[in-house]
Amino acid sequence: MSSKAQPKGPWVHRFLIRLFTAIFAVLVYWVLGFLVKDIQSIAGPQYDVIEKAHVDQKLVTKQQRLNGDLGRVARNIANKQAELKLVSDSSRNLQKTINQLIELQKLSIQKSVALSATEQETLSSSLSHFLESQKQYQAHNIELSTLTEQKRALAADQLATEGLLEKQRKPAQEEYRQLRAKHQMRLACFQLLILIPLLAAGAFLLLRKRSSIYFPLFLGYGVATLLKVSRVIHEYFPSRYFKYILILVLLVAVAKLLVYFIRVVAFPKTEWLTKQYREAYERFLCPICEYPIRIGPRKFLFWTRRTVHKIILPQSEQENEPYACPACGTALFESCADCNGVRHSLLPNCQHCASEKRT
Ligand SMILES: [Zn+2]
Ligand SMILES: [Zn+2]
Repeated sequence: MSSKAQPKGPWVHRFLIRLFTAIFAVLVYWVLGFLVKDIQSIAGPQYDVIEKAHVDQKLVTKQQRLNGDLGRVARNIANKQAELKLVSDSSRNLQKTINQLIELQKLSIQKSVALSATEQETLSSSLSHFLESQKQYQAHNIELSTLTEQKRALAADQLATEGLLEKQRKPAQEEYRQLRAKHQMRLACFQLLILIPLLAAGAFLLLRKRSSIYFPLFLGYGVATLLKVSRVIHEYFPSRYFKYILILVLLVAVAKLLVYFIRVVAFPKTEWLTKQYREAYERFLCPICEYPIRIGPRKFLFWTRRTVHKIILPQSEQENEPYACPACGTALFESCADCNGVRHSLLPNCQHCASEKRT
């Protein structure tokens, strides 16, 4: 066996490797994000252009003119109402004055005293003013009702035009909707066209370079690409379909993992076996049946996988002789064929001369 156990390195280095893997993944995710954004900025269909093709432009100008006219008439009506209010205020004042003068006249008749000339003058002029303002009021009222009539006609016309425009706009909106959906689909395809090969490359690296020392690099890249692809898919395809895609991908991934572990258990690779054996030897348990390996100071003790490091060992000489598991009969320590020292039977190298076990 040629593979040497890999050195793990100090924890700072391991921590830094994890940190940089995460940073690397974030950076890859960003780069992919820029790519996707650039693709998304491709211009789509313009609603204005489509509407022009469908809607009669004469109607549009007519509608604009009607809107302008309506605004003007509304302003005129407001002005007229203000004038009307002024006139009615002044005529009310006049009426008050006249009433007072008439009251005065009544009193003077009762006392048989004639009204003074100025009073008479005021009364007659107030009366004529009052009549004048009543006339004005009437005129303004007539103008106001004409304006209101105009406004009503304009509003009716506008409503009819709006209805026509609405009818013509409907196909335009429908066409825009379709074009837009097509455009979105095209954008999604462009994005996936770029992302899927990148994802495939990531998956390939992850599966094929599992034992490479640069695995964290591939892991960061793979995870970032997978995240971006799922985001793009989620954005463009209704979640109803996305749900199925996601569950399918997950199913495939879990099935692959399951198959992998089943194969590891069924046909253990030497690497895996060595790891398993090493851990068992470290706990002084038989790698095959987990029965305690009672050698040296441990001869009369008992322990399990959990308690092995808690028991206190009595002072005693380490024995150096071959040993086999009393439970399953597997040879666990044997004499080295090269140096005759006692070595682990199930580990690849001799602890004295480092020679590899010949199989
Ligand atoms: Zn055993
Ligand atoms: Zn040896």
